[in-house]
Amino acid sequence: EEDVFEYKKSLAIRTSGFDVPRPVKTFEDCGFSSQLMAAIKKQDYQKPTPIQCAALPIVLSGRDIIGIAKTGSGKTAAFVLPMIVHIMDQPELQKEEGPIGVICAPTRELAHQIYLESKKFAKSHGVRVSAVFGGMSKLDQFKELKAGCEIVVATPGRLIDMLKMKALTMQRATYIVLDEADRMFDLGFEPQIRSIVGQIRPDRQTLLFSATMPRKVEKLAREILSDPIRVTVGEVG
Ligand code: ADP
Ligand code: MG
Repeated sequence: EEDVFEYKKSLAIRTSGFDVPRPVKTFEDCGFSSQLMAAIKKQDYQKPTPIQCAALPIVLSGRDIIGIAKTGSGKTAAFVLPMIVHIMDQPELQKEEGPIGVICAPTRELAHQIYLESKKFAKSHGVRVSAVFGGMSKLDQFKELKAGCEIVVATPGRLIDMLKMKALTMQRATYIVLDEADRMFDLGFEPQIRSIVGQIRPDRQTLLFSATMPRKVEKLAREILSDPIRVTVGEVG
């Protein structure tokens, strides 16, 4: 069944799936730590964007999500903020066991943007973020990963290289984000995505964001997500 929430007169948030948590109206509704709230305020984010209103309570409740919203709608914070909460909820932070949160993005430019955005929120809790994409020395990247981190932001190809080099393992990974999934498919990363996800324990939380949902992406989503809630943000037409 489908639920439609009106965000503004012209904008609807559509959700489908069972037991969908209601959208939040404010960041205060999310139960974030005071450190995270301060980081949000520092970004001058007054209130959540529509995709954030719908996605934050879903992801914070531990559910898998398929998020469909256009570019510029604020998807990054929708997956980064709950990721910090997820990491802080782990019993203890141990070194050199690999990332807890893994974010895959199609291009280095996008991975870099997500890396910068993640760091702004991660540093409020001393969470370490590593970027893994082409254009940097593999040796430097290897060393950085060996030093340990809680979050990896990566392009699929370079992440596979680092996994093969045993720069990191996925044994601690429990929160995976596939951002711009449609573009990753367009760029031919489907085998790499399947390989990466296949190395992550099945009781993980999986988030998939995409501007469009072609059949191939839909098929992957059905295979790797568990009882996902689908959120679509769009104009009322
Ligand atoms: P998307 O991934 O959906 O294309 P981004 O996550 O890159 O969008 O966000 C687009 C822009 O909106 C960024 O500059 C980001 O800092 C800003 N932004 C995100 N959330 C909010 C918010 N709640 N309030 C104001 N600006 C925001
Ligand atoms: Mg984005």
